[in-house]
Amino acid sequence: MTTPIRRRRSDGRAPAPTSGRLRVGVDIGGSKVAVLVVGEGDSVLARKSVPAASSEPDQAIAQIAAVIREAVGEAGATMADVAAIGLGVPGRVDAATGDVTFAVNLGWQHLPLGRRLEAALGVPCVVENDVRAAAVGLHRHEGYRGVDDLIYLGIGTGISAGVVLDGRLHRGVRGMAGEIGHVVLDPDGVSCACGLRGCFETIAAGAGIARAARTAVEAGESTILAATTDPTAVDVFAAAEAGDAVAARLVDRAAAAIARMVHELVLAYDVELVVIGGGISRAGAPLLDRIQAGLARIAAPSAFAAELLAETDVRLAGSDHDIGTRGAIALLDPLAKEVVAREAVG
Ligand SMILES: [Zn+2]
Repeated sequence: MTTPIRRRRSDGRAPAPTSGRLRVGVDIGGSKVAVLVVGEGDSVLARKSVPAASSEPDQAIAQIAAVIREAVGEAGATMADVAAIGLGVPGRVDAATGDVTFAVNLGWQHLPLGRRLEAALGVPCVVENDVRAAAVGLHRHEGYRGVDDLIYLGIGTGISAGVVLDGRLHRGVRGMAGEIGHVVLDPDGVSCACGLRGCFETIAAGAGIARAARTAVEAGESTILAATTDPTAVDVFAAAEAGDAVAARLVDRAAAAIARMVHELVLAYDVELVVIGGGISRAGAPLLDRIQAGLARIAAPSAFAAELLAETDVRLAGSDHDIGTRGAIALLDPLAKEVVAREAVG
């Protein structure tokens, strides 16, 4: 793609387009910042990742700008060769300005990320919520050609969904569409960081599974997890595979909650594809089998649910480590940009 990228803003300022042909995708996560540099035909020129960005805004901007420069350098290029940078951030994003708010896991209250990076690097930047960016990336992915209604369900430290309907990213009035991690599944459940109890996240996200494991150990339940200091969700999945009954119960509970949410998302949005990504998807086939078993239990008494779910392709993103950075790059696609930046353009 050689068309210079322009982005209009509510303040009327448009970043100067560069003559560069490279595109950079940045996935800013709670535990790392990953950068992907691609050239013509989406060929990968460099990949780089560094530990998590600072919670202090000035330091975070300096860190992110530095890792982008290093990755571009490893691609044998300079910033003048870069057409634009797409960034996915776990928080609420104003797509018109690139400002990030409520990035709780990063500790950012309000950070004008897009504008600060444009000033630091001299290249247009497009910012979107990370899970929504991943959904846009899946929609542009050649493996999903022709699928215009899909959901990317990101299950990591927290949970949210990116929803593409009729080929367009569904953001909602506040840019919060798909924040289903805080749908209450168990009103009497454990407290959630959002203030409610029994949110989907507390049952199925990595942190929730780890917390449930700690609670089981502290209650003196018989489990091999007791031998591990601070067991993580990965430890719980491994223990379940090894036949540990307590771990299997926690994994089954998470998988049943995911299945229930998939069913509700399909009812709400009538999509044909649901891709489950994030750290949890690396648990692989054993997790997918449990989710499929949960869907089968939902379908068993209902011909309606059975038909709907039979026509829905549910799969794991698995080992695709570029899903976040590819999504960030997909934001730079002129078609995707039209969707993402429509508030500014309209
Ligand atoms: Zn919550």
